[in-house]
Amino acid sequence: KLSKRLEAVASFVPTGAVVADIGSDHAYLPCYLIHHEIINKAVAGEVVKGPYESAVRQVKSEGLDKQISVRLADGLKAIEEQDKVDTITIAGMGGPLIVSILEKDPQALKHVTRLILQPNIHAKTIRQWALKNGWAILDEVILEEDGKIYEILVLQKGVMTLTEAEILLGKFLIAERSKVFIEKWSREIENWKRVLASIQDAEQTSEIVAKRGELLHLIGLVEEVLNNEN
Ligand code: SAM
Repeated sequence: KLSKRLEAVASFVPTGAVVADIGSDHAYLPCYLIHHEIINKAVAGEVVKGPYESAVRQVKSEGLDKQISVRLADGLKAIEEQDKVDTITIAGMGGPLIVSILEKDPQALKHVTRLILQPNIHAKTIRQWALKNGWAILDEVILEEDGKIYEILVLQKGVMTLTEAEILLGKFLIAERSKVFIEKWSREIENWKRVLASIQDAEQTSEIVAKRGELLHLIGLVEEVLNNEN
């Protein structure tokens, strides 16, 4: 059975899509998508030999080696022109790593119409990348599993505008204001306040002053969102 996190990623894959799952590890996601008849062709990319071998083994044991090409490659280099991949999933990594994978081989995105990205941390970097590179957010999900909070961003080509708060917290997630969302950002505020208290009595070097200003700004920005009930 797939994790709730990957099930949520899968729910955004269009029927009949050709998917490349980058950093696929056991290839659980592409296997699930094919077993559930959502898609019938996928690429599973892995840059590390161990996880690549697990993916090969998993795909074989599920009898899916005709439909899933498992490739040992760095990021989007797993995708070949003739695959006609239109949907890319990248899950279970930090936002900055996901962005670095997308930036390394931008030509691989030419025929891609949907990106489903699940950053474990720093979703903000993905929203910033999307703004700069002609992608718009179609939907966002926040969920909790085993005590960890995850975000999923679904992107399609297009333009969007986002405020500073929407870049940090997510426009759709702000609008939804789910229990998990409030929990995540209340925790962040607590952390920032803890750091603020810890530097209170430090020597007021320009670095400390700048850090203080940054923390106060973030706390203000997020508190305003959490306190705004509309
Ligand atoms: N996507 C799966 C999931 O969400 O459960 C596996 C997540 S696992 C924590 C991250 C995987 O990404 C690792 O197996 C790692 O080897 C792979 N990875 C990291 N950087 C990569 C890159 N540049 N190209 C391909 N795979 C990469």
